Amino acid sequence: MKAHDGMYIDGAWRPAAGRDTIAVVNPVDEQVIAEVPAGTVEDVDAAVRAARAALPAWAATAPAERAARIAALRDVLVARKDEIAESVTAELGAPLPFSQAVHAGVPILVAGSYAELAASYAFEEKVGNSTVYAEPVGVVGAITPWNYPLHQIVAKVAPALAAGCTVVLKPAEDTPLTAQLFAEAVHEAGVPAGVFNLVTGLGPVAGQALAEHEGVDLVSFTGSTAVGRRIGATAGAAVKRVALELGGKSANVILPSADLAKAVAVGVANVMGNSGQTCSAWTRMLVHTSQYDEAVALAAEAAAKYGDRIGPLVNAKQHARVRGYIEKGVAQGARLVAGGPEAPREQGYYVSPTVFADVTPEMTIAQEEIFGPVVSLIRYEDEDDALRIANGTVYGLAGAVWAGDEAEAVAFARRMDTGQVDINGGRFNPLAPFGGYKQSGVGRELGSHGLAEYLQTKSLQF
Ligand code: NAD
Repeated sequence: MKAHDGMYIDGAWRPAAGRDTIAVVNPVDEQVIAEVPAGTVEDVDAAVRAARAALPAWAATAPAERAARIAALRDVLVARKDEIAESVTAELGAPLPFSQAVHAGVPILVAGSYAELAASYAFEEKVGNSTVYAEPVGVVGAITPWNYPLHQIVAKVAPALAAGCTVVLKPAEDTPLTAQLFAEAVHEAGVPAGVFNLVTGLGPVAGQALAEHEGVDLVSFTGSTAVGRRIGATAGAAVKRVALELGGKSANVILPSADLAKAVAVGVANVMGNSGQTCSAWTRMLVHTSQYDEAVALAAEAAAKYGDRIGPLVNAKQHARVRGYIEKGVAQGARLVAGGPEAPREQGYYVSPTVFADVTPEMTIAQEEIFGPVVSLIRYEDEDDALRIANGTVYGLAGAVWAGDEAEAVAFARRMDTGQVDINGGRFNPLAPFGGYKQSGVGRELGSHGLAEYLQTKSLQF
């Protein structure tokens, strides 16, 4: 695969400060497909300086012109859609049709939504005898994970640019090629030099240097709770803004009045998509005791249909981790009805679509984020029991409620401690705020709520 051997800083590809590189591995055949530079503290510093220097002019650029650049960026993403999909497939292992539809398709929607929002947002409003201005927070340090390589980047960079912020991005070490493609797209879109900068590198080196840099005003991080906690602590000590999008253990609550077959089929599909590497996946399926056995049979059947249609996990570490969770589920007494810990292929980081029955709420597989194609069916006795189980983890990112009557589902959803709930299946809305209650994070992404993360307000009284 084509890769740049430098960093995109101040509008050009520049040599990295050090000589170390990171190997990019294709998870399907475990072959090294490219090398990218491993950024150092010096690279991060150069990128932050470029972002600081570009900030005053970009912050003063009219919102309509910022909107025009984001619209141009969206158009480049459309024009290069196939290349993007191929890049995600090469480094993440996702099947190409999924990469085309989701990994390349969703960022186009999100970039488009921010081109419109930048043009229409009220950056200035009258409140009584005051004028309130929404001003950019400043330089953003964006640290992104590998699970949706481009979406995670666009969900941070597009609103930051719309707000008038400048950005330094440190993408995940597993998926830097898509990030390099994105930098090319930003360049092609005519975004001024220094407004967007890319430093590839390791989390504990380049990521940490970015989070700690005093020239960064806001750290926006998506990834594991463990790293998010550290970044939050670092940002707290420096009193800088922070946005954290962390893990989830979302509940798919199927009320007795629901269309059970549909709820189970869509629920299993939701977990299997992207091989279960989705922070908002509905990994706990909650079923009424009277329908439990039927739901288990339906879920096993749905998972079996996936067979080898899902891609591998991203890397050897995640492969071992997810299989370890499956072994733990068995050891703690859960019943495997599909899949299991054995690797289904000799080559590649594949895990079989796995369904567990007889899962109790306190088991490890019902409490911790597995990040693989594993769904756990938990039985409940009544609605209060379902609510207690649904709310009974440290997370609160997403969820689903199914019922015969929409109002019944909405009433239940309003009692859930979680940031986003799909009613009877839901439908993706790029403008809907996305983010966590409890330990799933701080702040929101997407839509006007996502834009507000990158703004600070100033009021003038008359
Ligand atoms: P991670 O949190 O280690 O990595 C996410 C990003 O943070 C990467 O860019 C990484 O380089 C960077 N990073 C790592 N250590 C850092 C540090 N000390 N300072 C600054 N940045 C740092 O995630 P992972 O190890 O790739 O995945 C582990 C688990 O995290 C997964 O199994 C899953 O449970 C969870 N995860 C969640 C999401 C999500 O969308 N919320 C995404 C990926 C992973």
